Amino acid sequence: AGDGEAIFLSPGETYISTSPAKRAKAAIVVLARNTDADDAVLSMQRMEQRFNHKHNYPYVFLNNDKFDSEFQTKTSRATAARTMYGIIPAEHWSLPPWISEQEAADALVDMSKRHVLYGGRESYHHMCRYYSGFFYKHPLLAEFDYYWRMEPDVKYYCDLDYDPFVFMQERHIKYGFVITVFDLNSTIPTLWSTTRSFMQQRPELMAQDNLLDFVTDEGSDDYNLCHFWSNFEIGDLNFFRSQAYSDYFDHLDQQGGFFFERWGDAPVHSLAAAMFLNHTEVHFFRDIGYRHNSFMHCPARQRNNCDCDAQNSVHFHTPAFGACHKRWAELQRRRR
Ligand code: GDP
Ligand code: MN
Repeated sequence: AGDGEAIFLSPGETYISTSPAKRAKAAIVVLARNTDADDAVLSMQRMEQRFNHKHNYPYVFLNNDKFDSEFQTKTSRATAARTMYGIIPAEHWSLPPWISEQEAADALVDMSKRHVLYGGRESYHHMCRYYSGFFYKHPLLAEFDYYWRMEPDVKYYCDLDYDPFVFMQERHIKYGFVITVFDLNSTIPTLWSTTRSFMQQRPELMAQDNLLDFVTDEGSDDYNLCHFWSNFEIGDLNFFRSQAYSDYFDHLDQQGGFFFERWGDAPVHSLAAAMFLNHTEVHFFRDIGYRHNSFMHCPARQRNNCDCDAQNSVHFHTPAFGACHKRWAELQRRRR
């Protein structure tokens, strides 16, 4: 595990603590369908057990459809905190007027033939576009500054003995992740060229100590496909509400890649963070053990009753995808 030590421990790093008296304006955000109720409850139980029973941060559930009473009953019973249920405005979950319906329909068929992951599933395109450009504008989130994105049936493996929202607020961190992996090029053939044209038009928006070196390799101008896995995110909503982010999203949306290709919200958030944030504004929550489907992260230095094995962390277990963790750690070391 020598390699893992180097990647997951930063020498001299002290354990994180935050003032228990402080509380952030924050919510746990869950996009889900009515059929996800039981899986949403599983995630909530783990979230409550490991963290939220001490804090009672509210949950905001969002859906393109109306949440039925079963979903609302099951999820509200799973927490002592406030639960809110929002419907997504139709214009945030439909083809924008400048996209041809026929072209979008043809693209779905084509992606499905080429086996582009989720490329043939129409609702998935709307979901990715929603998380890319709209969730932070939902009226139920207006009162909040921070969000923790949670998906149905994810696992949290360790107790969290500090408040990550307060931690971010105190350190001016805008984006937090636990897993970074390579994206599939087949889903985003023109995302990088579209992003580059934006950078050329708006060089003034790039952060001074940005993370463009994380998403490109030495001696190359190409996107290396590293992205933060967005099914877990703890973020600053005001970063997404900024003019820079909003202009970037509009630029992407005009190109139609959410429909003609299958641009994910994960690479979109990641490229935005890489351009607009300084290194110190993005945080790897190495102490949060987490699993979503096939990939997991388990802390190398374990305390807090972790119920996982660090050897199963993505960069050990699936090095073909997990090399982005190495790149992250190396860049962190260089900057120290
Ligand atoms: P994956 O993690 O990329 O395999 O995609 P998921 O199927 O888990 O979808 C990502 C998130 O969006 C999860 O929170 C889902 O519950 C949610 N989601 C996906 N599709 C839809 C949809 O059509 N409607 C709603 N309301 N939520 C969706
Ligand atoms: Mn998922």
